[in-house]
Amino acid sequence: MPPIFQTSTYAQVGPNKHQGYDYARAGNPTRTALEKLIAGLEGADECACFASGMAAMDALLKMLRPGDHVIASNDLYGGSYRIFTQVFQPYGIEFSFVDMTDLSLLQKAIRQTTKMIWIETPTNPLLRILDIRVLSMLAREHGALSIVDNTFASPYLQRPLELGADAVLHSATKYLAGHSDVIHGAVASSNSTIIDQLRFQVKSTGAVPGPMDCYLTLRGIKTLAVRVERSVTNAKVIANWLQDHPKVGQVNYPGLVQHPQHPLASEQMDDFGAMLSFTLSDDTQESAAAFMARTHYFTLAESLGGVESLISHPASMTHGSIPKELREAAGLKDSLIRISVGIEDVEDLQADLDSAFA
Ligand code: PLP
Repeated sequence: MPPIFQTSTYAQVGPNKHQGYDYARAGNPTRTALEKLIAGLEGADECACFASGMAAMDALLKMLRPGDHVIASNDLYGGSYRIFTQVFQPYGIEFSFVDMTDLSLLQKAIRQTTKMIWIETPTNPLLRILDIRVLSMLAREHGALSIVDNTFASPYLQRPLELGADAVLHSATKYLAGHSDVIHGAVASSNSTIIDQLRFQVKSTGAVPGPMDCYLTLRGIKTLAVRVERSVTNAKVIANWLQDHPKVGQVNYPGLVQHPQHPLASEQMDDFGAMLSFTLSDDTQESAAAFMARTHYFTLAESLGGVESLISHPASMTHGSIPKELREAAGLKDSLIRISVGIEDVEDLQADLDSAFA
């Protein structure tokens, strides 16, 4: 097991002559072990780890300059929308949010100044699937970088670099670490410009994870395969059961044959993930809130990708920073319920949801 190198600095052999590490903001052996592991999982040359998924995003976005333009999906994590519009937009970076399942809309949004296409797939919280291969190709044709937020799928189910993306981002807080006990982020890439920029950001702005957090994520990743397999098996049972339930409206899960991008999901993912969202047939926010208050095994909480099942209300929680009119235009209703299916006994999970319908 890689030790936890709980140190801020390293003895040097002479002035400016060190043995691989000089100061722990720039590097730490526990972090290096984790970076090599994530790079390997994503098929990347390198990976840089950060103190959170948002810190990883921040470092990537700092590659941009005023006047540069980014295209992102109109259905994406609320925190991504917030950092784009409230942190980087005031510095002169421009953002367009489009339904990237419609390529004609994306093509219309491309400008001379487009430098980045931000691809979150499956999307949060509507579980739409974006075509990584096609979007990465389009980005390359226009001299832009394609960045994939692979948080929902994890590299166990989807490896964007193999499909042509330039970099892949993780909220390692979720499936990679997997136990809801650490906040962590990572970017993996084989593009040397991106890697150099990230290493520069790590050293210059210092949003680095501590060695204990790196250890927890390293340890979590050892069981990524079995956790994801069990969660996905459970999610499929629950999605199919919800789909046929008389008190359910719409179920968003890419593993359902009725899902509009099911064929694409089958092609680009190894399996369909363990996240799903749905509305009730009594399609009101009040009914959704009452439903969420009645579950026991599904804990009402932000986050996802842990071994325990969680339930959340995107409109007021993870996506509360997106204005209501934009949320609704993207199809995110105030009545939407999102669940992250864990590894518990599926019959218990189903019984829990069933009793919440009562
Ligand atoms: N990307 C996605 C898809 C997320 O769901 C989240 C957090 O929920 C993040 C990025 C941000 O990561 P973190 O919470 O580790 O900063």
